[in-house]
Amino acid sequence: MTPGALRTWLAERSIPAYRSTQILSWVYRRRAPSFAAMGNLPQVLRDELAAHFALPGLTPTVVAHADDDTRKLLFQLDERAAIEAVLIPDASRLTLCISSQAGCGMACAFCATARLGLLRNLSATEIVGQVLAAQEQLRPDERITNVVFMGMGEPLANYDALLQAIEILSADWGVGLSARRITVSTVGLVPAMQRLVGDTNVNLAVSLSGTTDAQREPLMPVNKRYPVATLMAMCRSLPIPQRRRITFEYVMLEGVNDSPDDATRLARLLHGIRSKVNLIPFNPFPDAGFTGSPAAVILRFQEHLLAAGINATIRRSRGRDIQAACGQLALAGHTDRRGSTPAPTRAAGSRPAHGPRAAGGR
Ligand code: SAH
Repeated sequence: MTPGALRTWLAERSIPAYRSTQILSWVYRRRAPSFAAMGNLPQVLRDELAAHFALPGLTPTVVAHADDDTRKLLFQLDERAAIEAVLIPDASRLTLCISSQAGCGMACAFCATARLGLLRNLSATEIVGQVLAAQEQLRPDERITNVVFMGMGEPLANYDALLQAIEILSADWGVGLSARRITVSTVGLVPAMQRLVGDTNVNLAVSLSGTTDAQREPLMPVNKRYPVATLMAMCRSLPIPQRRRITFEYVMLEGVNDSPDDATRLARLLHGIRSKVNLIPFNPFPDAGFTGSPAAVILRFQEHLLAAGINATIRRSRGRDIQAACGQLALAGHTDRRGSTPAPTRAAGSRPAHGPRAAGGR
């Protein structure tokens, strides 16, 4: 719940509105293990809360550790739906990559999550729950500095839950992570992108991966609905604040979208947009049907963009050995060599999760 909704609930019981932020900071900031533990609330209110609500909580079924210290958390939400979140430590940052849907309906040809299809949307509680659960996995000297909606699913296809989760993550009474440290990545759902920029202050990342409709449509079917020209015109018109940029993600596929002509076209498309390009080396998965561009080709592509005045970086692939890298999230980190996926309990190279299970976590 956000404070507005909670205030309405409180008002119906003639309880003063200031209790709402008290309650929520117990939940998100002080991590009360139960309503009974919310010491500065009257006993009757604690009982009433316990009768009506559950504390948000997700418990990872498996936590897999990669050689590079990337950690992947698997959550079994119900019988069918499971999701993953990935903790990615870097020199000065600790980024958490979270999921917005179980599976994904966007059908991008190069992405493992797409092969699952869309199982269901996550609730705001399940989105925020990934952050709370990841915080419990941290070592004492660690703190999550950034959250990216780059896990499973298309966040803008689950708009209401996304918006509620962003409010909880960024609020002072909530998780307290500044919206500037939150990035939402999208395949390019144009109307929802415009709404998001109006409704929030988060960063926007757009998965482009093609420079013409003929090239992008077979890779990303969403291009039928929002072709390259429509998408770019809308990006050009977005009111992006000073000192901020839209990130364009571009998965590098050998012989598909990695030619010098592609780099030239990409630079032309981005002309006049406050942007930066993030080139993503393709991460393979079984039966992907694509090969990643060789490192030298990616470097040449980057140089081409830089020479054209486009800010371009190459994403360093993280957590590949536990299938935690971009486009590999398909609940397959526990797959043996023949490709069967055992029930997600324990797997070699993984250790069981620890941390208390919050009451009635849903
Ligand atoms: N649905 C949103 C959020 C997921 S972000 C979106 O697509 O933007 C995941 C990123 O990983 C996207 O940029 C996607 O294009 C990229 N990706 C998908 N499959 C990949 C793969 N096999 N290798 C590398 N990157 C991949």
